Amino acid sequence: MKVGFIGLGNMGNPMASNVRRAGHDLSVYDLRRQAASPLEDLGAAWADSPRAVAAASEVVLSSLPGPPEVEAVVLGDDGVFAGLAEGAAYIDMSTNSPAVIRKLAEVGNARGFQVLDAPVTGGVPRARDASLTVFVGATQDEFARFQPLLSAIGSNVFHMGEVGCGNVTKLVNNMMAFVNFMGAAEGLAIGAKAGVDPQLLVDAIKTGSGNSTINEFALPAFLRGETGLGFATALATKDVHLAVELAKECGVPAEVGPLVEQALTHFRDAGHGGDDIMAIVHDIVQRSGVDVSGKKSS
Ligand code: NAD
Repeated sequence: MKVGFIGLGNMGNPMASNVRRAGHDLSVYDLRRQAASPLEDLGAAWADSPRAVAAASEVVLSSLPGPPEVEAVVLGDDGVFAGLAEGAAYIDMSTNSPAVIRKLAEVGNARGFQVLDAPVTGGVPRARDASLTVFVGATQDEFARFQPLLSAIGSNVFHMGEVGCGNVTKLVNNMMAFVNFMGAAEGLAIGAKAGVDPQLLVDAIKTGSGNSTINEFALPAFLRGETGLGFATALATKDVHLAVELAKECGVPAEVGPLVEQALTHFRDAGHGGDDIMAIVHDIVQRSGVDVSGKKSS
């Protein structure tokens, strides 16, 4: 299949690599020209604009920061919809607003394009080994057409409903993850400051009712001294913000999500937007005056 890929960052690069390794022809574009180098080494072709990517492709995938970037890339004068042929498809794999992808689907469908959302979860390590979970919003026919391609990127490909349902699922997933992330970071600081060895705390909770992906993977990575999970604080803030907006749109009286949104926004606006989300664990531990070996430092 002739595949285009736009947005070659932490996630897009390994995802596009796996598309290429699965044997597809690949055209790529990113605002940062150098981001394409590892893909060109695998035989991908650089295209000068989203429009040029689309003109060379039967399906264009994107992995962009969020709704404003997706709208610009799709609807701009040199955008994807300016280059796609009738019957071709656009699949957004960014974490996006369900309302925005539904609007793009309406515009695209009217011009004869298929439009799907397929956001992913699992982070950079699972993007590298093609074991991501993919939440797809599409018609049955669209899902059947693109499931094999998406299976080159993720080992769990779920059809969640019509276009937009992929992002509804993804926003719920990420709100749950970041509520847990903040709780786990605070829990680590409390446990360590109150005298329990942090590694033992994490190991014991792995078999307890407080266990989670964050406890199993993020906190051990922090305790090993790793500095990042490959996910920027600004993107986490965007995700929880979009989830809280969705709660408002649906009339769900969410209370915990907005608190976590506020904490993330505060951290982002204090100059940490570009920092990896792991910086929040460092910040809480540091402000608690405890070191990661569990000794009280103040
Ligand atoms: P990133 O910032 O590393 O990559 C985004 C890429 O998009 C960058 O290379 C940037 O140059 C490019 N870009 C931005 N605007 C552009 C434009 N107008 N035209 C072309 N390229 C443009 O972000 P990421 O971590 O790879 O995340 C991408 C998406 O995947 C986001 O929506 C994020 O929420 C989601 N996501 C990230 C993770 C993760 O662990 N990093 C996990 C799941 C989902």
